[in-house]
Amino acid sequence: MIIILKRNASPSKVEELKKNLVNRGFKLHLSEGTEASLIGLIGDTSSMHEDWLRALDVVEDVRRIREPYKKANRSMHPEDTVIDVCGRKIGGGNFQVIAGPCSIETEEQITEVAEDVKASGAHLLRGGAFKPRTSPYAFQGLHEQGLDLLLKAKKATGLPVVTEIMSTEHLPLFEDVDVIQVGARNMQNFELLKELGRLDKPILLKRGLANTLDELLMSAEYIMAGGNEKVILCERGIRTFETSTRNTLDISAVPMLKQKTHLPVIIDPSHAAGIRFMVEPLSMAAIAAGADGLMIEVHNNPEKALCDGAQSLTPQMFDTLMKKINKTTEFFRELNA
Ligand code: PEP
Ligand code: MN
Repeated sequence: MIIILKRNASPSKVEELKKNLVNRGFKLHLSEGTEASLIGLIGDTSSMHEDWLRALDVVEDVRRIREPYKKANRSMHPEDTVIDVCGRKIGGGNFQVIAGPCSIETEEQITEVAEDVKASGAHLLRGGAFKPRTSPYAFQGLHEQGLDLLLKAKKATGLPVVTEIMSTEHLPLFEDVDVIQVGARNMQNFELLKELGRLDKPILLKRGLANTLDELLMSAEYIMAGGNEKVILCERGIRTFETSTRNTLDISAVPMLKQKTHLPVIIDPSHAAGIRFMVEPLSMAAIAAGADGLMIEVHNNPEKALCDGAQSLTPQMFDTLMKKINKTTEFFRELNA
């Protein structure tokens, strides 16, 4: 339930109302926007009488939220959430590009790619140390050593880093990681999501291969319910009957999510396509659809990559793409101004 406060509401009366609500056992979610100030009630509101609230001096209106995701709901927080990653803002008109290899392989590889993508204008560096592979015999990532190499590349370039977690047991290793990624296969690992909800760190939550947008939002809600509201959603392609691409990019996820939630939404065109040549057109489509950022796989030697080489761009290809991304974001910023 959302209580919309009057613009001129007396602060002391608002405080009184808040205390009353807390005493009734509700958790409060406060949102002070430029348009309106809201109090979101989290808890069982079935016995709450809207008329009692409406009769109060400070209350403009009361609305019930039907969707099971409350904190992620746009009606709870009408303005876009902007997430700050070491000074790089994502959401609310701020567009960020995350680039780097699928997996961290060697010190030379990750630092070389990091320096290249930085020079091209990427804002954050990605690289996997714990890799969820379909085959148990495939390269699983360098684990702790991989994280060390990623942090070295962060130090060398100053780029904040994004890397995937697969188990709560590994959390102590992620202390210096700037954004923790939850991969598609772990989108509904609820124990992992609950643990991440206890952190004060941005979480990049990827949509599961066969999950609906509401399921994605419920997974975001798991993280937010624990107190961590810094969730970035990522559409990375879903499983369909089409076999000519690795997945099918659900471009409509962007405007639909933007309507349902205030959280930033980014697109991963690399995993959606699975083929290098499609990364550019899908990136352009993501910008046109209103995405808040892109996550793109880049490798200094894609032919020799230990993971996802076919969809990885070379640093030169990424450089060309970055120029187009900058022009396209600028074009749409003007168009939508
Ligand atoms: C990745 O980002 O390398 C990855 C494994 O992505 P996804 O979880 O979307 O498959
Ligand atoms: Mn990958």
